Amino acid sequence: MTEVAIDETLEAARQRLARALDAAGRHPRAAELLAVSKTKPATLIRAAYASGQRAFGENYLQEALDKQQALADLDDIVWHFIGPLQSNKTRQVAEHFAWVHSVDRDKIARRLSEQRPEQLPPLNICLQVNISDEPTKAGVRLADLPALAEAVMALPRLQLRGLMAIPAPCDDPQHQRVPFARLREALEELKTRHPEAPLDTLSMGMSDDLEAAVAEGATQVRLGTAIFGQRPPRD
Ligand SMILES: *Cc1c(COP(=O)(O)O)cnc(C)c1O
Repeated sequence: MTEVAIDETLEAARQRLARALDAAGRHPRAAELLAVSKTKPATLIRAAYASGQRAFGENYLQEALDKQQALADLDDIVWHFIGPLQSNKTRQVAEHFAWVHSVDRDKIARRLSEQRPEQLPPLNICLQVNISDEPTKAGVRLADLPALAEAVMALPRLQLRGLMAIPAPCDDPQHQRVPFARLREALEELKTRHPEAPLDTLSMGMSDDLEAAVAEGATQVRLGTAIFGQRPPRD
């Protein structure tokens, strides 16, 4: 995809999000667009930035660090780490990102907190929930969520903001809403248990299920393909 087209796909994505919010009876700014730029070159991120986009999501650490270096002059970009996170990668994530959406265990959270540089604000965290309870999938199980949330809230250099999920793919818009509703309810339960905590984030909805996620209260939608085009197959 060329840089000129990014202008158009980004505008189309904004309009799609605005329509979804309107259809759900929600405020026009109730959800933020996160541009998922994994596998895409820094030049396309720069083009999206020039069109006003500030929040970008990356999945693969080394690739993300390379692009951050190439884009170091864009100092108000907000980088979100949304991919699987192993403990040997936590230091660089803690140093180079503002958000992590994929925390699903205690050990990773503790390392991120210990490694978050003092001069930076606390690292914003979403806990990734295995919302479809698939045995092989990443994410904490709903049953284990309250304990993990409490552990993360106790860590000094992290700010628990909410929950993230990647439901199993599904073509039927009505069925798409089921796991998103479950995630919304899980966040509501956490808020009830911890009324003082700033739990304001539901990171859910991608190119194929944005409308269903927004209908269930998404506050950050993560769009890759819809903005940057198809990615090469991976793995
Ligand atoms: C790749 C990815 C996305 C974007 O998916 P699209 O279907 O391309 O919009 C969103 N969230 C996560 C966690 C991803 O890995």
